[in-house]
Amino acid sequence: MAEQNLTTAQTQLRQHFAQLVAQNKLVHAYLFAGPQGVGKKALALWVAQGIFCEAVQAGIPCGRCNECRRIAEHNHPDVVEIVPDGLSIKVDQIRFLKAEFTKSGVESRRKVFIIQEAERMTNGAANSLLKFLEEPSGDVTAFLLSANTSQILPTILSRCQLIELPRLPKEQLQQQLIQNGIGAKQARILANMTESVPAAEQLQANEHFDSLVKLTQQWFNMVIRHDPMAFVLVQSKLMPEIVGRDERELCLQLVMLLARDLLLQHLGQDEEVVFTETSIETLGTVETARLVTAVELVLKQSRSLMVNVSFQTILEKLTLRLMDLYTPGTGSR
Ligand SMILES: [Zn+2]
Repeated sequence: MAEQNLTTAQTQLRQHFAQLVAQNKLVHAYLFAGPQGVGKKALALWVAQGIFCEAVQAGIPCGRCNECRRIAEHNHPDVVEIVPDGLSIKVDQIRFLKAEFTKSGVESRRKVFIIQEAERMTNGAANSLLKFLEEPSGDVTAFLLSANTSQILPTILSRCQLIELPRLPKEQLQQQLIQNGIGAKQARILANMTESVPAAEQLQANEHFDSLVKLTQQWFNMVIRHDPMAFVLVQSKLMPEIVGRDERELCLQLVMLLARDLLLQHLGQDEEVVFTETSIETLGTVETARLVTAVELVLKQSRSLMVNVSFQTILEKLTLRLMDLYTPGTGSR
Protein backbone atom coordinates (compact mmCIF):
# COMPACT_ATOMS: atom_id res chain seq x y z
CA MET A 1 0.00 0.00 0.00
CA ALA A 2 3.05 2.23 -0.22
CA GLU A 3 2.33 5.50 -1.91
CA GLN A 4 5.73 5.84 -3.49
CA ASN A 5 6.68 4.35 -6.83
CA LEU A 6 3.23 4.68 -8.38
CA THR A 7 3.31 4.77 -12.15
CA THR A 8 1.48 7.48 -14.04
CA ALA A 9 -1.18 4.95 -15.02
CA GLN A 10 -1.63 3.82 -11.42
CA THR A 11 -1.96 7.41 -10.24
CA GLN A 12 -4.56 8.14 -12.92
CA LEU A 13 -6.59 5.08 -11.95
CA ARG A 14 -6.54 6.15 -8.32
CA GLN A 15 -7.76 9.60 -9.27
CA HIS A 16 -10.53 8.04 -11.34
CA PHE A 17 -11.70 5.84 -8.48
CA ALA A 18 -11.37 8.56 -5.86
CA GLN A 19 -13.82 10.57 -7.91
CA LEU A 20 -16.25 7.66 -8.14
CA VAL A 21 -16.02 7.07 -4.39
CA ALA A 22 -16.56 10.77 -3.64
CA GLN A 23 -19.58 10.94 -5.95
CA ASN A 24 -20.88 7.57 -4.77
CA LYS A 25 -20.86 6.30 -8.33
CA LEU A 26 -19.11 2.98 -7.97
CA VAL A 27 -20.82 0.21 -9.94
CA HIS A 28 -21.47 -3.22 -8.42
CA ALA A 29 -18.66 -5.15 -10.03
CA TYR A 30 -15.28 -4.34 -11.50
CA LEU A 31 -12.84 -6.60 -13.24
CA PHE A 32 -9.25 -5.45 -12.81
CA ALA A 33 -7.25 -7.00 -15.62
CA GLY A 34 -3.49 -6.95 -16.06
CA PRO A 35 -0.33 -8.99 -15.62
CA GLN A 36 0.90 -10.13 -12.24
CA GLY A 37 2.40 -7.32 -10.16
CA VAL A 38 0.82 -4.29 -11.83
CA GLY A 39 -1.09 -3.37 -8.68
CA LYS A 40 -4.57 -4.83 -9.16
CA LYS A 41 -4.98 -5.83 -5.54
CA ALA A 42 -3.36 -2.65 -4.21
CA LEU A 43 -5.86 -0.62 -6.22
CA ALA A 44 -8.83 -2.67 -4.99
CA LEU A 45 -7.73 -2.27 -1.37
CA TRP A 46 -7.12 1.44 -1.88
CA VAL A 47 -10.65 1.93 -3.22
CA ALA A 48 -11.99 -0.12 -0.30
CA GLN A 49 -10.12 2.19 2.06
CA GLY A 50 -11.68 5.15 0.28
CA ILE A 51 -15.12 3.65 0.96
CA PHE A 52 -14.56 3.01 4.67
CA CYS A 53 -12.00 5.65 5.69
CA GLU A 54 -13.01 7.79 8.66
CA ALA A 55 -11.09 10.78 7.33
CA VAL A 56 -11.65 10.37 3.60
CA GLN A 57 -11.07 13.47 1.50
CA ALA A 58 -12.51 13.64 -2.00
CA GLY A 59 -12.50 9.86 -2.15
CA ILE A 60 -8.86 9.62 -1.09
CA PRO A 61 -8.30 7.49 2.03
CA CYS A 62 -6.08 8.81 4.80
CA GLY A 63 -4.24 5.50 5.09
CA ARG A 64 -3.81 5.98 8.85
CA CYS A 65 -7.19 5.64 10.53
CA ASN A 66 -8.45 2.46 12.13
CA GLU A 67 -10.53 1.51 9.09
CA CYS A 68 -7.69 2.12 6.63
CA ARG A 69 -5.26 0.13 8.74
CA ARG A 70 -7.57 -2.85 9.16
CA ILE A 71 -8.13 -2.99 5.40
CA ALA A 72 -4.39 -2.78 4.74
CA GLU A 73 -3.90 -5.61 7.22
CA HIS A 74 -6.63 -7.69 5.54
CA ASN A 75 -8.54 -7.64 8.77
CA HIS A 76 -11.73 -5.73 8.05
CA PRO A 77 -15.07 -7.52 8.53
CA ASP A 78 -16.71 -5.76 5.59
CA VAL A 79 -13.89 -6.27 3.12
CA VAL A 80 -13.77 -9.93 2.23
CA GLU A 81 -10.97 -11.36 0.11
CA ILE A 82 -11.22 -14.66 -1.72
CA VAL A 83 -8.09 -16.42 -3.01
CA PRO A 84 -7.93 -19.78 -4.83
CA ASP A 85 -8.12 -22.72 -2.47
CA GLY A 86 -5.43 -24.84 -4.06
CA LEU A 87 -5.81 -24.59 -7.82
CA SER A 88 -9.31 -23.22 -7.98
CA ILE A 89 -11.90 -21.03 -6.34
CA LYS A 90 -14.58 -23.44 -5.28
CA VAL A 91 -18.32 -23.04 -5.06
CA ASP A 92 -18.19 -23.30 -1.25
CA GLN A 93 -15.96 -20.24 -1.14
CA ILE A 94 -18.52 -18.22 -3.08
CA ARG A 95 -21.31 -19.58 -0.88
CA PHE A 96 -19.35 -18.44 2.16
CA LEU A 97 -18.98 -15.03 0.57
CA LYS A 98 -22.71 -14.80 -0.09
CA ALA A 99 -23.49 -15.86 3.47
CA GLU A 100 -21.18 -13.13 4.74
CA PHE A 101 -23.08 -10.57 2.76
CA THR A 102 -26.55 -11.66 3.64
CA LYS A 103 -25.74 -11.31 7.32
CA SER A 104 -26.90 -7.79 7.95
CA GLY A 105 -23.81 -5.63 7.81
CA VAL A 106 -21.32 -6.51 10.51
CA GLU A 107 -20.36 -2.92 11.05
CA SER A 108 -22.04 -1.00 8.27
CA ARG A 109 -24.19 -1.68 5.27
CA ARG A 110 -21.28 -1.23 2.88
CA LYS A 111 -19.54 -4.36 1.68
CA VAL A 112 -16.55 -4.93 -0.54
CA PHE A 113 -15.36 -8.21 -1.83
CA ILE A 114 -12.17 -8.94 -3.70
CA ILE A 115 -11.73 -12.13 -5.70
CA GLN A 116 -8.12 -12.77 -6.64
CA GLU A 117 -7.25 -14.84 -9.71
CA ALA A 118 -10.91 -14.77 -10.64
CA GLU A 119 -10.22 -16.91 -13.72
CA ARG A 120 -9.70 -19.82 -11.34
CA MET A 121 -13.35 -19.98 -10.34
CA THR A 122 -14.85 -23.38 -11.07
CA ASN A 123 -17.98 -23.29 -13.21
CA GLY A 124 -20.03 -23.90 -10.09
CA ALA A 125 -18.36 -21.00 -8.31
CA ALA A 126 -18.76 -18.72 -11.32
CA ASN A 127 -22.46 -19.53 -11.65
CA SER A 128 -23.00 -19.01 -7.96
CA LEU A 129 -21.24 -15.66 -8.16
CA LEU A 130 -23.22 -14.74 -11.24
CA LYS A 131 -26.53 -14.99 -9.40
CA PHE A 132 -25.06 -12.76 -6.74
CA LEU A 133 -23.88 -10.18 -9.27
CA GLU A 134 -27.28 -10.20 -10.95
CA GLU A 135 -29.18 -9.43 -7.79
CA PRO A 136 -26.78 -7.73 -5.43
CA SER A 137 -28.16 -7.32 -1.97
CA GLY A 138 -27.41 -4.00 -0.35
CA ASP A 139 -24.48 -1.77 -1.02
CA VAL A 140 -21.92 -4.14 -2.50
CA THR A 141 -18.84 -3.48 -4.58
CA ALA A 142 -17.03 -6.44 -6.08
CA PHE A 143 -13.49 -6.42 -7.43
CA LEU A 144 -12.52 -9.39 -9.54
CA LEU A 145 -8.80 -9.50 -10.25
CA SER A 146 -7.31 -11.45 -13.12
CA ALA A 147 -4.23 -11.78 -15.28
CA ASN A 148 -6.10 -14.09 -17.66
CA THR A 149 -9.45 -12.58 -18.46
CA SER A 150 -9.84 -14.82 -21.53
CA GLN A 151 -10.45 -17.68 -19.11
CA ILE A 152 -13.35 -15.95 -17.36
CA LEU A 153 -16.89 -16.93 -18.33
CA PRO A 154 -18.41 -14.36 -20.71
CA THR A 155 -21.49 -14.16 -18.51
CA ILE A 156 -19.30 -12.96 -15.64
CA LEU A 157 -17.38 -10.56 -17.89
CA SER A 158 -20.60 -8.99 -19.08
CA ARG A 159 -21.57 -8.23 -15.46
CA CYS A 160 -18.33 -6.42 -14.67
CA GLN A 161 -16.87 -3.14 -15.70
CA LEU A 162 -13.47 -3.91 -17.16
CA ILE A 163 -10.52 -1.83 -15.93
CA GLU A 164 -7.21 -2.65 -17.57
CA LEU A 165 -4.06 -1.98 -15.60
CA PRO A 166 -1.22 -1.48 -18.05
CA ARG A 167 2.14 -3.17 -17.55
CA LEU A 168 4.98 -1.08 -16.17
CA PRO A 169 7.04 0.71 -18.80
CA LYS A 170 10.30 -1.22 -19.28
CA GLU A 171 12.50 1.62 -18.03
CA GLN A 172 10.42 2.01 -14.90
CA LEU A 173 10.52 -1.71 -14.18
CA GLN A 174 14.29 -1.63 -14.64
CA GLN A 175 14.63 1.33 -12.26
CA GLN A 176 12.50 -0.35 -9.66
CA LEU A 177 14.56 -3.53 -9.85
CA ILE A 178 17.75 -1.52 -9.39
CA GLN A 179 16.18 0.16 -6.36
CA ASN A 180 15.44 -3.30 -5.00
CA GLY A 181 19.15 -4.07 -5.14
CA ILE A 182 19.46 -5.89 -8.45
CA GLY A 183 22.53 -5.02 -10.55
CA ALA A 184 21.97 -2.70 -13.51
CA LYS A 185 22.82 -5.24 -16.16
CA GLN A 186 20.65 -7.95 -14.68
CA ALA A 187 17.83 -5.49 -14.12
CA ARG A 188 17.94 -4.65 -17.82
CA ILE A 189 17.71 -8.30 -18.82
CA LEU A 190 14.90 -8.98 -16.34
CA ALA A 191 12.95 -5.90 -17.41
CA ASN A 192 13.06 -7.20 -20.96
CA MET A 193 11.90 -10.66 -19.98
CA THR A 194 9.07 -9.95 -17.54
CA GLU A 195 6.25 -7.52 -16.97
CA SER A 196 6.42 -6.80 -13.27
CA VAL A 197 8.69 -6.59 -10.23
CA PRO A 198 7.39 -9.81 -8.61
CA ALA A 199 7.67 -11.73 -11.88
CA ALA A 200 11.24 -10.42 -12.38
CA GLU A 201 12.25 -11.29 -8.83
CA GLN A 202 10.75 -14.73 -9.23
CA LEU A 203 12.72 -15.27 -12.42
CA GLN A 204 15.92 -14.08 -10.80
CA ALA A 205 15.35 -16.45 -7.90
CA ASN A 206 15.64 -19.39 -10.32
CA GLU A 207 18.98 -20.94 -9.35
CA HIS A 208 19.80 -21.57 -13.02
CA PHE A 209 19.14 -18.01 -14.12
CA ASP A 210 22.69 -16.62 -13.86
CA SER A 211 24.36 -19.55 -15.57
CA LEU A 212 21.72 -19.65 -18.29
CA VAL A 213 22.27 -15.97 -19.06
CA LYS A 214 26.04 -16.51 -19.24
CA LEU A 215 25.95 -19.77 -21.21
CA THR A 216 23.24 -18.75 -23.66
CA GLN A 217 25.19 -15.62 -24.50
CA GLN A 218 28.37 -17.65 -24.86
CA TRP A 219 26.58 -20.10 -27.15
CA PHE A 220 25.11 -17.29 -29.24
CA ASN A 221 28.52 -15.67 -29.71
CA MET A 222 29.84 -19.01 -30.96
CA VAL A 223 26.92 -19.29 -33.36
CA ILE A 224 27.54 -15.91 -34.95
CA ARG A 225 31.23 -16.80 -35.32
CA HIS A 226 30.22 -20.16 -36.85
CA ASP A 227 32.21 -21.94 -34.19
CA PRO A 228 31.26 -25.66 -34.20
CA MET A 229 32.04 -25.75 -30.47
CA ALA A 230 28.55 -24.29 -30.11
CA PHE A 231 27.18 -27.84 -30.40
CA VAL A 232 29.48 -29.08 -27.67
CA LEU A 233 28.43 -26.23 -25.42
CA VAL A 234 24.76 -27.13 -25.89
CA GLN A 235 25.37 -30.71 -24.87
CA SER A 236 27.94 -30.30 -22.11
CA LYS A 237 27.07 -26.97 -20.47
CA LEU A 238 23.63 -25.72 -21.44
CA MET A 239 21.60 -28.90 -21.20
CA PRO A 240 22.63 -29.65 -17.57
CA GLU A 241 21.22 -26.24 -16.55
CA ILE A 242 17.92 -26.94 -18.25
CA VAL A 243 16.10 -29.03 -15.70
CA GLY A 244 12.52 -28.23 -16.56
CA ARG A 245 10.02 -26.22 -18.49
CA ASP A 246 10.91 -22.92 -16.78
CA GLU A 247 14.53 -23.19 -17.86
CA ARG A 248 13.56 -24.19 -21.41
CA GLU A 249 11.41 -21.09 -21.72
CA LEU A 250 14.05 -18.95 -20.07
CA CYS A 251 16.75 -20.16 -22.45
CA LEU A 252 14.67 -19.50 -25.57
CA GLN A 253 13.65 -16.10 -24.25
CA LEU A 254 17.33 -15.23 -23.93
CA VAL A 255 18.06 -16.45 -27.46
CA MET A 256 15.15 -14.31 -28.57
CA LEU A 257 16.65 -11.20 -26.95
CA LEU A 258 20.05 -11.93 -28.47
CA ALA A 259 18.63 -12.37 -31.96
CA ARG A 260 16.60 -9.20 -31.50
CA ASP A 261 19.72 -7.35 -30.33
CA LEU A 262 21.50 -8.11 -33.59
CA LEU A 263 18.56 -6.79 -35.55
CA LEU A 264 18.36 -3.65 -33.39
CA GLN A 265 22.08 -2.98 -33.81
CA HIS A 266 21.74 -3.49 -37.54
CA LEU A 267 18.92 -0.92 -37.59
CA GLY A 268 20.97 1.50 -35.50
CA GLN A 269 18.62 1.32 -32.49
CA ASP A 270 21.46 0.70 -30.08
CA GLU A 271 19.75 2.20 -27.04
CA GLU A 272 17.28 -0.72 -27.07
CA VAL A 273 19.98 -3.38 -27.08
CA VAL A 274 20.08 -5.62 -24.00
CA PHE A 275 23.33 -7.56 -24.44
CA THR A 276 25.77 -4.88 -25.53
CA GLU A 277 28.72 -7.32 -25.51
CA THR A 278 27.26 -9.28 -28.40
CA SER A 279 28.19 -7.20 -31.35
CA ILE A 280 26.93 -7.22 -34.89
CA GLU A 281 30.49 -6.26 -35.88
CA THR A 282 31.34 -9.94 -35.48
CA LEU A 283 28.87 -10.69 -38.23
CA GLY A 284 29.84 -8.26 -40.91
CA THR A 285 27.18 -7.37 -43.44
CA VAL A 286 24.05 -9.47 -43.31
CA GLU A 287 20.75 -8.75 -45.03
CA THR A 288 18.05 -7.29 -42.79
CA ALA A 289 15.65 -10.01 -43.98
CA ARG A 290 17.96 -12.70 -42.61
CA LEU A 291 18.11 -11.03 -39.21
CA VAL A 292 14.33 -10.79 -39.15
CA THR A 293 13.99 -14.44 -40.17
CA ALA A 294 16.30 -15.40 -37.31
CA VAL A 295 14.04 -13.66 -34.79
CA GLU A 296 10.99 -15.38 -36.29
CA LEU A 297 12.76 -18.71 -36.18
CA VAL A 298 13.41 -18.40 -32.44
CA LEU A 299 9.78 -17.40 -31.88
CA LYS A 300 8.65 -20.50 -33.75
CA GLN A 301 10.87 -22.68 -31.57
CA SER A 302 9.22 -21.21 -28.47
CA ARG A 303 5.94 -22.52 -29.79
CA SER A 304 7.37 -25.96 -30.42
CA LEU A 305 8.04 -26.19 -26.68
CA MET A 306 4.39 -27.11 -26.40
CA VAL A 307 4.88 -30.31 -28.34
CA ASN A 308 7.06 -33.08 -27.13
CA VAL A 309 10.38 -32.41 -28.83
CA SER A 310 13.61 -32.87 -26.90
CA PHE A 311 15.05 -29.53 -25.98
CA GLN A 312 18.51 -30.55 -27.04
CA THR A 313 17.14 -31.24 -30.53
CA ILE A 314 15.55 -27.79 -30.56
CA LEU A 315 18.82 -26.13 -29.59
CA GLU A 316 20.85 -28.12 -32.11
CA LYS A 317 18.45 -27.23 -34.90
CA LEU A 318 18.60 -23.60 -33.83
CA THR A 319 22.40 -23.71 -33.86
CA LEU A 320 22.41 -24.98 -37.46
CA ARG A 321 19.70 -22.69 -38.77
CA LEU A 322 21.06 -19.58 -37.08
CA MET A 323 24.59 -20.27 -38.31
CA ASP A 324 23.13 -20.45 -41.78
CA LEU A 325 21.13 -17.24 -41.41
CA TYR A 326 24.01 -15.38 -39.82
CA THR A 327 26.27 -15.86 -42.82
CA PRO A 328 28.31 -12.75 -43.38
CA GLY A 329 28.71 -11.27 -46.82
CA THR A 330 25.10 -12.00 -47.73
CA GLY A 331 24.10 -8.41 -47.30
CA SER A 332 23.54 -6.40 -50.43
CA ARG A 333 23.26 -3.02 -48.73
ZN1 LIG B 1 -8.54 6.35 6.73
